[in-house]
Amino acid sequence: MISVEDAAQIVLDNTKALEPRKIDIKESLGFYLAKDVVSDMDMPPFNRSAMDGYAVIAGDVASPPAKLKVIETITAGMQPECCVEAGKAAKIMTGAIVPEGADSVIMVEDTEPVCNGTNVKVLKDIKKGKNIALMGEDMRKGQVVLKARKKIRPQEVGVLASVGVKEVDVFRKPSIGIISTGDELIEIGEELKPGKIRNSNSYSLAAQAMRVVDDVEIIGIAADNKETITSMIKSGLEKDALILSGGVSMGDYDFVGEVLKELGVEVFFEKVALRPGKPTVFGKHNNTLLFALPGNPVATFVTFELFVLPAIRKMMGSEKCESPLIKAAIEIDYKAKKKRREFRPACVRQNSSGLTVAPVEWHGSADLLSTTNANCLIVVPENLEKFEKGQMVDVMLLDDPF
Ligand code: AMP
Ligand code: MG
Repeated sequence: MISVEDAAQIVLDNTKALEPRKIDIKESLGFYLAKDVVSDMDMPPFNRSAMDGYAVIAGDVASPPAKLKVIETITAGMQPECCVEAGKAAKIMTGAIVPEGADSVIMVEDTEPVCNGTNVKVLKDIKKGKNIALMGEDMRKGQVVLKARKKIRPQEVGVLASVGVKEVDVFRKPSIGIISTGDELIEIGEELKPGKIRNSNSYSLAAQAMRVVDDVEIIGIAADNKETITSMIKSGLEKDALILSGGVSMGDYDFVGEVLKELGVEVFFEKVALRPGKPTVFGKHNNTLLFALPGNPVATFVTFELFVLPAIRKMMGSEKCESPLIKAAIEIDYKAKKKRREFRPACVRQNSSGLTVAPVEWHGSADLLSTTNANCLIVVPENLEKFEKGQMVDVMLLDDPF
């Protein structure tokens, strides 16, 4: 049995970013950049007014009030025609080009129009350069504005558009196949007979994956016999990652581990010192990653978060792959179960004193319903006796943080 850290490291060591492809920036949200993005222009591309007001020479308004002649109105998008000279001003809108001669923009609130706006009375003085965004102050032509491996969020999409990138190089997202195993499993529409339960893992796993990728196929339910499991796994081997649930424990009908080996899958580990989720299997077949997760729904859920999600992030090109831990003060005394590292469904909340966290009521690794009250997992170290109320503990959020 290996530690959670070692298992997570083995997964990442055997996972690499998929090949790059070009996509329209409108589709690029959530992808990771495969190449540096370079600006094709200075930003702003001209000295730009940051205010609606008057472009003036600061020296002209040093002893307010000052009356200036308005020579032009410059709107955003137009090219100014006049040059501002001593005793003159140009009315200017936010985003417009600051005319030659002017060295500052006085906001409209600090002025009064005179003679139907042919003149302006400036009521305050102004520092030279005020309210002018200088050409190139945000970015320079040729500058790397977004580095490879950065995740594309809405603000990155905006930057891509502003530097003229319509199609962007990103790493391909992995295709994911999901297989649930178990003679007891029925599909949602089927009649619930004695001894049967509905297959929930395929759906929770698919939903977990779909937070970050698009191509997720629920392949089906494999009965607990080697032939069915073999043929279903074979049908999923063209995926970038194949996730199985169930059939990896010590039962007489737990064939998944055996089948993987018979299929020539290189198996890296089969047990992790973890609760819930001890019988977690990770292997590789050509370029397909195989995760055989324990069937108990919370174990399936937790092991996806710990091992599959980081691997997906790595395939997508992310540099940071493992979910970060945050600290919160535990709200109650908590007795640890010891020996294996525990990931305990819990709820973290913001209080006046900061973040606090409390375990949710939970009946064990089959109790998926309780996890709907959880938004995080408390990490309970393997050798710990207990947490004392108020102690700062590590918490893994169940949302995708990067
Ligand atoms: P196993 O890992 O196959 O020993 O299964 C452990 C427990 O999880 C058993 O109670 C199974 O019935 C349950 N289980 C296995 N697969 C699923 C699934 N796809 N959906 C819901 N529960 C499952
Ligand atoms: Mg089973």
